[in-house]
Amino acid sequence: MSPTSPASLVAVLDDRRCSGCRLCLPACDARALIWVTAERELFLDTWACTGCGDCVRSCPEGALRMDGRAMGRGDPLTAAPSPLRGEARVRGDPQ
Ligand code: SF4
Ligand code: SF4
Repeated sequence: MSPTSPASLVAVLDDRRCSGCRLCLPACDARALIWVTAERELFLDTWACTGCGDCVRSCPEGALRMDGRAMGRGDPLTAAPSPLRGEARVRGDPQ
């Protein structure tokens, strides 16, 4: 697999920029973007993300970007367990 193939990429959400507009939801055929109404917050399932990049183009706030996925060494992104089974909550870049 080439380092630039879609599977080697993963979307990253910067929740500091996210306005909650939800325009990105229909852009994700993989359903990796989940709006949690109770928390009024967007969650990104990095395991479901196929790395297509469509959400990045749909976001008017620049809150989504693509980054490399570290294969075989765990997810390099800051991810913590979420209340949603099997999903990871993705924070923005560590400060
Ligand atoms: S389109 Fe961008 S700003 Fe709107 S909910 Fe999605 S990530 Fe947040
Ligand atoms: S990169 Fe593609 S699969 Fe991943 S969250 Fe964005 S739209 Fe969904």
